[in-house]
Amino acid sequence: MTQRLGLPRSASGWVPGERMIGHARQPLPDIPSDAPTIGVLALQGDVLEHLRALQRVGARPVRVRKVEHLDGLDGIVIPGGESTTIGKLLRRFELWEPLRAALADGLPAFGTCAGMILLSRELDQAVEQQVLGAMDIVTRRNAFGRQIDSFEADLDVEGLDGGPVHAAFIRAPYVVTVGEGVEVLASVDGHPVLVSQAGRLLGASFHPEMTGDDRLHARFVEMARTARGA
Ligand code: GLN
Repeated sequence: MTQRLGLPRSASGWVPGERMIGHARQPLPDIPSDAPTIGVLALQGDVLEHLRALQRVGARPVRVRKVEHLDGLDGIVIPGGESTTIGKLLRRFELWEPLRAALADGLPAFGTCAGMILLSRELDQAVEQQVLGAMDIVTRRNAFGRQIDSFEADLDVEGLDGGPVHAAFIRAPYVVTVGEGVEVLASVDGHPVLVSQAGRLLGASFHPEMTGDDRLHARFVEMARTARGA
C-alpha cells in the first residue's frame, strides 16, 4: 500500500530541493582493490547520495561528466532528476552518443526515476523526447498523477532478502510495457516500478539512494561484477 507523506526523507535527513552540503557525513568504508568501478552520471540530480551508496556496498564510485569518464567503467548509474534536462545536458556535454553506444555495447546500467526514463526504448506520451533505448521498456513520465506525485511505499522485491524496500517516489514514472527479456521485480497498484533485463540493466521508478537501504545498489554492483567477469 502507498501512503501520502509529503516529501520523502533520506537516511541523512536530506529532502529534495535542499542543499546536500552538511548532510551525509557518515564515515565510508575503504574501497577494496577488486571493487567494480561504477560511474554516476553527474550532470543533474542526486549524484552524491548515489556515490555514497555505491561506496557503502563495496564499489569504486566515479563521477561521469565527460566522455573520457566512461573509460574503464564496469557499470553506470543514471540518477533521478529531470529526464528532459539530463537529456539536454548529455548533448551539451557531448555524452549522449558515447553513452548510448556504451550501453548498446553492454555497459551495465542502473537508472533511477528520470534515469529509468532515459534508459527506456520509448516513452508513452505525445510529446517528443529522445531516450537512450538501452532497456526494452516503455515508460510513462509523472505516471502516478498530480495529487500523489510524491509518496512512499513498501515494496516487495522479487528475489531480495531482508523484507520490503521502503521506496520514495517523486513525480515518478512507471513502466507501461515490458519486452520479453524484461523481468518485473516490483509493482505499485499493478504498475511495474522495478525492472531488470539481461542481468545487467536495472530500472527503478523511485529513489533507492534516498532511503538508506542499499540493497538495490548492492544488487546492481553484483550485476556489474558478474558482467565484468563474463
Ligand atoms: N518527473 C521526472 C521526469 O520526468 C522524474 C522525477 C525524478 O527523477 N524524481 O524526468
